[in-house]
Amino acid sequence: MSEEKIPQATARRLPLYYRHLNILHNQGKTRISSRELSESIKIDSATIRKDFSYFGELGRKGYGYDIAHLIQFFRKLLDQDEVARVALIGVGNLGTALLHYNFMKKGNTHIEMAFDTNAHKVGTKKGDVPIYHIDDLEKELKERDIKVAILTVPARVSQEVTDQLIKLGIEGILNFTPSRLTVPDHVRVHHIDLSIELQTLVYFLKQD
Ligand code: ATP
Repeated sequence: MSEEKIPQATARRLPLYYRHLNILHNQGKTRISSRELSESIKIDSATIRKDFSYFGELGRKGYGYDIAHLIQFFRKLLDQDEVARVALIGVGNLGTALLHYNFMKKGNTHIEMAFDTNAHKVGTKKGDVPIYHIDDLEKELKERDIKVAILTVPARVSQEVTDQLIKLGIEGILNFTPSRLTVPDHVRVHHIDLSIELQTLVYFLKQD
């Protein structure tokens, strides 16, 4: 089945499955049932079976899923053999934390370079990532195949920076600012608003 036909909700769970199966593989496990997988990743087993059914017959009744086979399959789907190069814009508190976090150790994404306007930050490195001036965005991006950007600038400049990024061929933006960005159809934005997430969590706790 082609990747286009996988529902969005299923596609969003793929990295979670992939990461967890790798942990099991490293523990020496060779197979797992949807029920066991469900208990460890806290997704109900019916959802797991449904998700996996989109990928064809990956398991057998009474035998479970072959972990090595699943990993190989997911790796292809997620393009894990190739490293996705990422740029980060805005090296404030949050940006700095993300640079130190170093995604490479956890998966196939790597922040290659960062940009800022602050003269004290430009020319330095954070967690091995060089920081360039935002005026050099075009020059630096052009030399590398970077299609994804992480946005950790102040909200007031987020749209302006987004427009610049899109002009330079960025196709995916992980937006950590509180702003809702306006982008053309071919650009995908994933919004991570930490304060909203926290507020929502607190709200639900109060309902219980
Ligand atoms: P954070 O919000 O991540 O905690 P902060 O409070 O330290 O950061 P902010 O004012 O939010 O700082 O700015 C984040 C970073 O974005 C700063 O390092 C700032 O210099 C940088 N910045 C501001 N404007 C731009 C811009 N137009 N392009 C790139 N970087 C910018």
